[in-house]
Amino acid sequence: MAKVSINIATGSLQKEEIIIGIDLGTTNSLIAYINDDKEAKVINDTGKGILVPSIIHFHPTGEIIVGNDAKPYLISDPQNTIFSVKRLLGQSYKDIENFKDFFSYKVIDDDTESIVKIKVGNKFYTPIELSAMILRELKERAEHALKTPVNKVVITVPAYFNDAQRQATRDAGKIAGLDVLRIVNEPTAASLAYGIGLHPDEEKTIAVYDLGGGTFDVSILKIQNGIFEVLSTNGDTFLGGDDFDRVIIDYWLNALSLNPKEVMSNSSLAQAFRLGAEEAKIALSSQNIYQTTIDGHLCGITKQTFEELIKPLVEKTINCCALALKDAGVQVSEINEVVMVGGSTRTPFVKQNVATFFNKAVHDEINPDEVVALGAAIQADVLSGNRTDILLLDVTPLSLGIETMGGLMDVIIPRNSKVPTKAGRQYTTSIDGQVNMKVSVYQGERDLVKENRKLAEFDLKGIPSMPAGLPKVDINFMLNADGILKVQALELRSGVKQEVEVKPTYGLTDDEVEQMLLDSITNAKEDVAQRMIIEARTEGEQMVYTAENFLKKSAEYLSIDEIAKTQQYINVLKEELPKANKDSILKAIDELNEYTRPFAERVMDVAVSQAMKGKKIDE
Ligand code: AMP
Repeated sequence: MAKVSINIATGSLQKEEIIIGIDLGTTNSLIAYINDDKEAKVINDTGKGILVPSIIHFHPTGEIIVGNDAKPYLISDPQNTIFSVKRLLGQSYKDIENFKDFFSYKVIDDDTESIVKIKVGNKFYTPIELSAMILRELKERAEHALKTPVNKVVITVPAYFNDAQRQATRDAGKIAGLDVLRIVNEPTAASLAYGIGLHPDEEKTIAVYDLGGGTFDVSILKIQNGIFEVLSTNGDTFLGGDDFDRVIIDYWLNALSLNPKEVMSNSSLAQAFRLGAEEAKIALSSQNIYQTTIDGHLCGITKQTFEELIKPLVEKTINCCALALKDAGVQVSEINEVVMVGGSTRTPFVKQNVATFFNKAVHDEINPDEVVALGAAIQADVLSGNRTDILLLDVTPLSLGIETMGGLMDVIIPRNSKVPTKAGRQYTTSIDGQVNMKVSVYQGERDLVKENRKLAEFDLKGIPSMPAGLPKVDINFMLNADGILKVQALELRSGVKQEVEVKPTYGLTDDEVEQMLLDSITNAKEDVAQRMIIEARTEGEQMVYTAENFLKKSAEYLSIDEIAKTQQYINVLKEELPKANKDSILKAIDELNEYTRPFAERVMDVAVSQAMKGKKIDE
């Protein structure tokens, strides 16, 4: 068994194991490492290229294809081909409702705040499991190219990712059999790749402009004492190089007097135009005119026309930069460096506009597709203790969190977080009229709290009696520089508050910490599988509770047949709950949900019309 060689004092790891950096992207992912000459290098697994498309295809034979080979299926079998899963990571259906039409595969609408699921054939997948498939492919490629086992990684995420999205990324790593040592912000990684912020006495304010294929974001960072602080972020999650391609296609179709609807509904013709437009755009990054033939039509465009066409899009990104500066409370003149990230920053017009806005030459020396992964590799190198010139901040050696439904560990401060730190999350009640909430604080890496170490427990009493889901309880963890953890629970509607203080490392030897880490790695796969079953079961129990309540309270709106059928679906779900099959539980939830959805709407309509009537009487 591999020895876990974490240095408890510094959180760094010993040299013997390679740690790689992963840029887990919306469109493409890539991996990088530090070679023997101490240079950051992206991994090009022989013949497969550097960019690994973040695409998963579920083949009818049961085979799961990830990366380059999955790409053609986007056109030929869109329902069974998953792309852009990063947009779903850590999100509930409510979070993504506005752009659900973007996906060609089935995203389950369960109308709840639980994490979205994707249905492929008869199986249900969470975005975490799907991201894990991409990470597994990356791990295999790295192992193949480096000819050594790869278990430890640093993964980058957008600076705007919230706690749930970061935790989902960690969990995806876990399922892929990876020990995620740190989650790093993409703009921080990009800065590190340029050597910005590598010295403890450096003080700088920088802007990172990231324009990819489908997304745009800009971050303003402050670097002080080796700490990267995100002052603000701004952007547009549906703006990128794909839009540049689209304006070229529109321009050509217009010039050729072709009907856009007709052309775009023919998938092979649409694809030919898309590829032709992308080729034109890329060519115009280094030449002034481009011409090609698509389906017998001569298509040409000059650089000047292209720039006129994309001008409104580029202006949009510049507006975002201005807003980001405003939110950060920073003047343009205070920005010391501007870093360009993402394939679309290769377009000279983009670079010029950004340089003009910030009144400064931009950093574009490093390949903008690779810069984030290269920075992640540098961060990995810092963690592995190979860079003695860099300040390593104190870190907490084990994760801290609380127990949630089903006995699961919900991590609030992940291990390896710098201290002092604070983090929090909002919870609610699961039963109508619940007036107390037990808060149990745990430490450790296992998914089930019973395998972790209990630090404290208290009851938040006096929550006003409300329906389940309405109270809002903020749980905040504050870990100070001396390692003292203060946990505070606060119900926002009533202001009821309760808190405890503990010292997490009290009574723990270094050997015990190591053993806890080892156990978590050995049991990672089973732990995650069990977590998924428990999560499905908790959701199912909640669904049974809601549906039975609905039958009790609103039976008058349903026919006898509908009541019987609903009860039947409830019974099926109840039967599935004790079994350890996540998919069959989710299937039963989905079926009950689909069947009862129209009833809820019916009751809502009646309630609305009664409210309206009531209003009329009042007047
Ligand atoms: P990313 O998501 O960062 O991999 O960026 C991909 C986007 O960059 C796609 O829209 C590509 O078409 C675009 N791209 C790649 N190379 C170039 C280039 N030389 N000039 C302009 N755009 C490019």
